[in-house]
Amino acid sequence: MQKSDCIFCRIATGAIPSLRILDTPDSFAFLDVGPLAPGHALLIPKQHSESILDVPEDVLHAVTAHLSPLARAIMRATGATGMNVLQNTGESGGQLVLHLHFHLIPRRSGDNLGFRWNARKYSAGEGEAVQTAILNELRS
Ligand code: AMP
Ligand code: ZN
Repeated sequence: MQKSDCIFCRIATGAIPSLRILDTPDSFAFLDVGPLAPGHALLIPKQHSESILDVPEDVLHAVTAHLSPLARAIMRATGATGMNVLQNTGESGGQLVLHLHFHLIPRRSGDNLGFRWNARKYSAGEGEAVQTAILNELRS
């Protein structure tokens, strides 16, 4: 199902133009209009879902099957030596467009893209507490 007021649904149908790089019965990929690096692409399911939180499992499986061949093609085409696959979920996760999409961002050493990875350490018992909470959720 598509949503008439969703920009990525409209891109998938061709109603809004894009630089298309993949078009299958279930999925569509195109170049991000604001690339972090040349070849920065977005992979989307044609069926509308907001994010990984509401996407039906079969739709998710179908779209993610394209990640690996697409990543390899983008890397070969751009000469990138690495790749970040990123899926922003929710406003606090940095999601601006509310149609599930995977960013494929080609990387090279020293490209200074500016991703910050501010790793911290668990305090005593903190890791185990969050592990238990997640395990309980997965069991319920
Ligand atoms: P996110 O913050 O994960 O929701 O990312 C949305 C992405 O969509 C941004 O990187 C935008 O540059 C990109 N974007 C928005 N509109 C278009 C468009 N019409 N064509 C291509 N990319 C778009
Ligand atoms: Zn949509």
